[in-house]
Amino acid sequence: MHVMAYAPYGADGIIIRVEADIRRGIPGVDITGLAEGAVREARERVRAAFRNSGYTFPQDRILINLAPAGVRKDGASLDLPIALAVMAASGTIPAPEEGGPEVPPSSMNVMILGELELSGRLRPVRGALAAAAAALHAGIRDFIVPVENAREAAILSEGRYAAAATLGEAVRAFKTLAETGAFPPDGPPSEPARAPVPPVALYGDFAEVRGQGRYKRALEIAAAGGHNLLAFGPPGGGKTMLARRMPSIMASLEAWEAVEVTRLHSLAGQLEGGLITRSPFRSPHHSATPEGILGGGKTVRPGEISLANFGVLFLDEAPEFRANVLQALREPLEDRVITISRAQGPVPLPADFQLILAANACPCGRLGIRFRPEEPRAHRRGTSPSGCFCSPDEIHRYWRKFSGALLDRVELRTVVIPPDSKELSGGREEPSETAARRVSQAVEIQRERFKGTGIRRNARMTTGMTEKYCALTGEAQGAFHVALEKLNLSGRAFHSILRVGRTIADLEGKDAIITAHILEAVQHRRMGEDPYDIFNTGS
Ligand SMILES: [Zn+2]
Repeated sequence: MHVMAYAPYGADGIIIRVEADIRRGIPGVDITGLAEGAVREARERVRAAFRNSGYTFPQDRILINLAPAGVRKDGASLDLPIALAVMAASGTIPAPEEGGPEVPPSSMNVMILGELELSGRLRPVRGALAAAAAALHAGIRDFIVPVENAREAAILSEGRYAAAATLGEAVRAFKTLAETGAFPPDGPPSEPARAPVPPVALYGDFAEVRGQGRYKRALEIAAAGGHNLLAFGPPGGGKTMLARRMPSIMASLEAWEAVEVTRLHSLAGQLEGGLITRSPFRSPHHSATPEGILGGGKTVRPGEISLANFGVLFLDEAPEFRANVLQALREPLEDRVITISRAQGPVPLPADFQLILAANACPCGRLGIRFRPEEPRAHRRGTSPSGCFCSPDEIHRYWRKFSGALLDRVELRTVVIPPDSKELSGGREEPSETAARRVSQAVEIQRERFKGTGIRRNARMTTGMTEKYCALTGEAQGAFHVALEKLNLSGRAFHSILRVGRTIADLEGKDAIITAHILEAVQHRRMGEDPYDIFNTGS
């Protein structure tokens, strides 16, 4: 007798066959198949849950085997499948079609999820949607899940689901399935559909931030084309405030993207509610563990960078993050996955995110602060005109943490300084909704352009694609070359500026990249190794 279960592991998890065999002998339960900690303890929980739900636990020798044997299994999510497998093997759940209550069904192609409390109540498990996806892929169509997981598991419209709050309810569903080939008619309780909350209500509106036109535009280009962005400058400039409002201009996810994003959140145990339809925006704190950010742990749980898949990873005060974490971002920025090393072999996790970095321009944070001419000299500390304490060496060292390799992949670099009085008293600011409309249009164009290629945004174009889709008009080409030479930009910058130019043209719904587009792209790139020069040459 066996039933199917699921263990979260890496990006897909593992489908587990729970086999139960009962024979005469000294009463006891043996679990084989690399069961660890919480799985070994399952026998105590199952025994108590049986008793407290009014069932008799078999007084025989019970062998539980978990297959495949080569995978370590931990966590309490195998409780309910073990309990139901034992019941079926002992004949508590009969299978009349196969000849009466004495003969248990030999196999049930049903996936069962759920932890057991000693009382017999069920607790939700992590990764219910991922479990359903894996099961459907393997041809398993019937599911018994804890009530709390029902909505999540049923996000994929295929499959038949029974939701149970207790062991008793799960037994009833299992029994009905065994006897009739279908679940009881009273399906999972449907939750009332909630009206979607508009993103500006959750994240705030660009219009609430005065000035910062250039930075807002850079965020818009980033949102449209999936480009990476670095915003740097002194505190109080609004770097963080605007970045956190970025979701208010980002495009919604396509159906397949929504399922993939929701699945990863489900695997990480971070899913609240149903399908995630908006691009994720994750902003881990710099004190978060490398495992929390990059993913890992015993079951290779997705980290922040995988939760940011198809969305934004925002690192505020980026230089404060551990150097090894920043270094590790190079792989996903290049390959859209992160590979976690494990003794059993490398485990890849999807991490197709765009990076938004915010940083002070120097360790003391004062580099770039503008002083009003009338301000008394005494208020200006330090020696540089900006009042910064740091030596050029200290500033270079501070920026070296990003390393060229990481900064190389940041196409948009924006100096953010506190707005001056003119900006503060300016006219009406554009609402996020208007920028969001331009972004959606640009995203639609890209969906059409990259159909079937596995590429989603301009930022991820291959060199071949860049050559194909980023042809400049004759005039634009001339202007681009003059700008490149003047700014002494590298060959790597060349292609990335072209891709940004493509996005700027897409924002206008234009096919050709004209001079204005490519020069704007150059403007958003301007920066050498670190921003020291920008502030000290006054450019
Ligand atoms: Zn400084």
